[in-house]
Amino acid sequence: MRRPERSIIGNWKMNAPEALEAYLEVLAARTDKLPAVAVCPPATLLAQVARTLEGTSIAVGAQDCHPAEQGAFTGDLSAPLVQRAGARLCLLGHSERRQGLGETSELVARKVQAVQRRTMTAVVCVGETLATREAGLAASFTVDQLLSSLPEGAALERLLIAYEPVWAIGTGRSANANEIEEMHGVIRGALVDRFGAPGQGLPILYGGSVTPANIHAIAPIAEVAGCLVGGASLDIAAFAALIEALG
Ligand code: PEP
Repeated sequence: MRRPERSIIGNWKMNAPEALEAYLEVLAARTDKLPAVAVCPPATLLAQVARTLEGTSIAVGAQDCHPAEQGAFTGDLSAPLVQRAGARLCLLGHSERRQGLGETSELVARKVQAVQRRTMTAVVCVGETLATREAGLAASFTVDQLLSSLPEGAALERLLIAYEPVWAIGTGRSANANEIEEMHGVIRGALVDRFGAPGQGLPILYGGSVTPANIHAIAPIAEVAGCLVGGASLDIAAFAALIEALG
């Protein structure tokens, strides 16, 4: 089977790189085709970042959106609105939203539909907590979360999965190669059960404390089709090193 194209997505969360213009200049100068690179700035910076990166190979994404197209939802942003600001992809179901804001997988599935209706790419994040892992339930929990976060009729060509163990996000403790390999294999099995052969080609990214120090252990894992990077994506030197390592 052809290896899926590799991707790296920077999730700035509620932060911005210190010298934003200089950061974007380095990214904009990139000419390599692989890996596919995207950054997800806070919503208030989406339009500016998208304008600056227009015409380059770097895609811009949103960190979330509301499932409705429009309406009385104070403070929220719809898929059409983030798309109009320049987003071509949208992170959905990040653990900081599932845990901090009580987002359910059913809600995430509706958001996937909203994003795909606009022909944007949905990046669906899944992963277990430490307590769940220690209880021996990492695989079953993550598969349940994944399958209930994917709507009926999902457009597979506009779908990426990110395996992000909650205990590895922002902690400095990445999952090790064995853990990543095992969980990506479990997720692959669930995708094939659900979608048949097309599930074989769906990219599965790894996320959780990926840094230039550990990328060389993560990048060679066969089922790792790229990375979702939080903290290290705010530093252009670190992010550029990660891009290079995944190329
Ligand atoms: C994330 O926010 O998705 C993430 C993986 O963060 P970090 O790289 O900081 O662990």
